[in-house]
Amino acid sequence: MKLEMPGLFDLQVNGFAGIDFNGPDLTADRVDEALERMRATGVTRCLPTLITSSFEQFARSARVLARMSSAAIAGIHMEGPYLSPEDGARGAHPREHVARAASLDDFSRRQDAAGGRIVLVTLAPEVPGAVTLIEHLVASGVRAAIGHTTATPQQIGDAVAAGATLATHLGNGCAQMLPRHPNVIWELLAADAVFASLIVDGHHLPPATVKAMVRAKGPGRTILVTDAIAAAGRGPGRYAIGAVDCEQHEDGRVSLPGTPYLAGSGVTLDRAIANTVRFTGLPVDRVVAMASTIPASYLGATTAGTVTADWDAEAGELQVLRVHV
Ligand SMILES: [Zn+2]
Repeated sequence: MKLEMPGLFDLQVNGFAGIDFNGPDLTADRVDEALERMRATGVTRCLPTLITSSFEQFARSARVLARMSSAAIAGIHMEGPYLSPEDGARGAHPREHVARAASLDDFSRRQDAAGGRIVLVTLAPEVPGAVTLIEHLVASGVRAAIGHTTATPQQIGDAVAAGATLATHLGNGCAQMLPRHPNVIWELLAADAVFASLIVDGHHLPPATVKAMVRAKGPGRTILVTDAIAAAGRGPGRYAIGAVDCEQHEDGRVSLPGTPYLAGSGVTLDRAIANTVRFTGLPVDRVVAMASTIPASYLGATTAGTVTADWDAEAGELQVLRVHV
């Protein structure tokens, strides 16, 4: 079946096709190359995502991105450094650079380095100063997202009351072992003001979890992200996200070598759409919205261009044929 869809919009992408947005060698040409490769998968707009690192490294990548005029860059997603320092919840974020407190001054320095282009910040509500920072972000038009957290229900409630509106890659970036209830997943699922982003690469979340989460949030408040690293669009092997080494396995899973911890993904957004249709049974156009118009309107932005694709309902496969920008 032929599908005409809006250009896809990825709120969380750390790198693509061998290019690491967090790497010390990032250049505008390399970013353009990554954007072009992403476009072939239907993604016409995205938020390059900068994870926890030294301020110098953050500022270096942020300046490269800030100078670019490409409409494909809808802003910068800053994930960290105000995150849980705990193993598991921290994910691939290097502990040495995780901040002990969220501070307005620190954020302002980062936003200055980024030329004001940070539009989304993922942070953990339990980090001292996080709630005050959320209020400041929201007042200045920056979206605040909850992630990489061990927050209590009260702390999550406080963050939501302060204006946090997204659960970043819900079901990941939390402890490997959780009490059955209450826990961060149930609290964020139940918070009606909060959208959820999901990494549907077949590794971060089992199919039943994806189905149950989409049912609980509703397709209108679910956003598909890739959380892709440089491994996306490439084969198995060793890759880097900033100073962190990662490995893409034969089955496509990306992890910190020798640990159970996932470290971003190798999935592309077109494949995430196909996976989500298979896992949830939702019509393909509802799922396409979760990767295009819904993330765009969440940010107060628009999608760009259109994508012609072939949807094979029997096989559950989506093939991008043409992208018009
Ligand atoms: Zn993350």
